[in-house]
Amino acid sequence: MQYYSLGKQSPPVNFKTAAITGQAPDKGLYFPSEIPQFTAAQIERFKTLDKASLAFEVMKPYVGGTIDDATLQQICAETIDFDFPLVAITSTISSLELFHGPTLAFKDVGARFMSRCLGYFSKQEKVASASPTTKSTTVLVATSGDTGGAVANGFLGVEGVNVIILYPKGKVSPIQELQLTTCGQNITALEIDGSFDDCQAIVKEAFMDTDLNQQYHLTSANSINVARWLPQQLYYFFAWQQWVKKYQDADGNYPAMHIVVPSGNFGNICAGMMAKASGLPLGHFVAACNANDVVTRYLATEKYEIHTAVATVSNAMDVGNPSNFIRIREILQNNFTHLTNALTSYSINDATTKSTIARVYKTNNYTLDPHGAVAFAAAELYLSKINADPLNKDTQNANDSKVVILETAHPVKFPEVVEEAIGEKIEVPASVQFLLDKTKVSIPLAANYTSFKEWMLQ
Ligand SMILES: *Cc1c(COP(=O)(O)O)cnc(C)c1O
Repeated sequence: MQYYSLGKQSPPVNFKTAAITGQAPDKGLYFPSEIPQFTAAQIERFKTLDKASLAFEVMKPYVGGTIDDATLQQICAETIDFDFPLVAITSTISSLELFHGPTLAFKDVGARFMSRCLGYFSKQEKVASASPTTKSTTVLVATSGDTGGAVANGFLGVEGVNVIILYPKGKVSPIQELQLTTCGQNITALEIDGSFDDCQAIVKEAFMDTDLNQQYHLTSANSINVARWLPQQLYYFFAWQQWVKKYQDADGNYPAMHIVVPSGNFGNICAGMMAKASGLPLGHFVAACNANDVVTRYLATEKYEIHTAVATVSNAMDVGNPSNFIRIREILQNNFTHLTNALTSYSINDATTKSTIARVYKTNNYTLDPHGAVAFAAAELYLSKINADPLNKDTQNANDSKVVILETAHPVKFPEVVEEAIGEKIEVPASVQFLLDKTKVSIPLAANYTSFKEWMLQ
């Protein structure tokens, strides 16, 4: 398996190089040279395979021999070592809860997989060069909240890899801040006196800075990196396993599993579309967006107009120019008709997001986080659309029209919005209770590149 650059100027590389470098030299995103095709017999077997074995079988073709099987098996088992329950909210909408990992958001899976791969490659390099002076890898990442915690937790203690997280001062929630500032060891948190966009701009400039790149082996840990992006496919396999178990009849039939994904950078939904392209029998995809609706508008008008991101209550999706959308286009052969047949998108405003949290809590006794609420509201719009359209093939069995929403974070990560909507305090889960006794350690920096570079070179 090779990875080519969607910039089309750089040569193809293997999984190891793609994971270590993040982005191609031409600044394009890497994309697999072929999408593995699972046979009907394999898919049948996947229905009952345990999660770790399934993860191994899905990831093995993508890793393409750059990690030996025994190590990859262990990496996969550690990556998915928690629950991914599919929980019914209403008779037609179920929630795939992706917040049972160590930092309570779905980014844990990608961060855990990527950190272990880089740790393995770094060890391999050390053995191969037998030199103690080999440049260690430095992961540089800007976060609006969830990525930082997941990356800190995933990389903590990984030898040969240092992590530097830039986060905007005062703009992440208290639990998010503790998650990324209390690790110590190989994790450093820089508290930037500015916005998320300032953090992102500093990281981008660092990747282009020849002085820095001479001293450090810099790489990114966002969903541009194939080692973080591709393992997100596993959610869709795990959801489908539970769906089949719940709905399959004696003849082996089950209703189509349509999926609504709260989307920002479009890495998660793009991974789901890869899973479908490799043969997993999934239904239709719906991208649920907040006011940052470049894709929603594109699907309606075929005009791709980027705007600077606006702040919303579902802030992990405040992205003006989603980096992974180009990969979705590639999956669908850059054909607009294929795209609109495969993907629907709705934009949900903050007022609806908040009222959805309140209503679902009251009516269904389920606490959504703001991102899950955007997905729930979009799911209702999608259901009313397919149920209203007699020609739509999805409604042949109108009573069977059902969707899964991905619940991407635990509501406790967004206490201000959620507690106001439900009128109650959210209990802090035991798994993060310990954080509340820890002391934040961060390095305050001004929001400009010069301050950052001085700090790096000192
Ligand atoms: C990152 C994130 C998203 C958006 O995921 P993308 O892969 O960037 O589309 C949605 N919800 C939460 C809670 C997130 O942390």
